[in-house]
Amino acid sequence: MTGVVEELALANRILAHEGVLDAFGHVSMRHPTLADRYLLSRSRSPLLIEPDDILEFTLDSEPVRPAKALLYAERVIHGCIYQARKDVMAVCHHHAPAVMPFCIAGKPIVPVFHLGAAMGGEAPFWDQHDEFGDTNLLVVKPEEGRSLARALGQNSAVLMNRHGATVVGASLKELVARAIFMCQNADYQLRALTLGTPEPLHRGEVKLAGTLSAMPNVVTRTWEYWSMRLEASGALPPRSVAAKPTRRAMSRSARATARERRKGRRR
Ligand code: MN
Repeated sequence: MTGVVEELALANRILAHEGVLDAFGHVSMRHPTLADRYLLSRSRSPLLIEPDDILEFTLDSEPVRPAKALLYAERVIHGCIYQARKDVMAVCHHHAPAVMPFCIAGKPIVPVFHLGAAMGGEAPFWDQHDEFGDTNLLVVKPEEGRSLARALGQNSAVLMNRHGATVVGASLKELVARAIFMCQNADYQLRALTLGTPEPLHRGEVKLAGTLSAMPNVVTRTWEYWSMRLEASGALPPRSVAAKPTRRAMSRSARATARERRKGRRR
């Protein structure tokens, strides 16, 4: 589990560092061995998330172990999508500046360059007001989460009117790449409008280029690149405290070094 929570903390920070998440938004992954659970941080801004912030939830979005920490109000987005889509292994909900103009104007984001095909052919719209009338626009009730999951259908992303977007993936790395490339695509689409009318990729191109963008060697390469950018900014997550070597596992010299360090701190 340790490696998994560290990857999820890293995914949170990558998506924040690349401008998909900000103070808000969240990314989860399905539990690697228990398909009826998922992993998500306690309520915290994604750029600050550490492995030890990651909690385990049932698909009803209840914490598996009683948690003292504050939880994300919108976590039903994750649980309801994992319930509806057996193929989905990771979910990201965000309010990225790149997608907001489309969510506000109600204009579709369509793939306009080869890597934009990572988002699939279309992202449907969902308007919370249609079914639930006046709300604070947060997706907090299970019925709101289920409605969003229905609108997502078999697509890779859904746009939420006047709110943001939710993106899904068959793996954490695929999801991170898709979320980032979809934002790049939205940004290019909007900028290309100042030059003319951007033509979306052909249906066959979306399929071919989309398959390519999800290849393990491609998502490993992008993950490595975004991790390096994060490291260069000095924002890599710390290691899990739970994963620190126990006293028994530490060598004599490592214990001596730790002792010296503690002494140094007291001075
Ligand atoms: Mn939100």
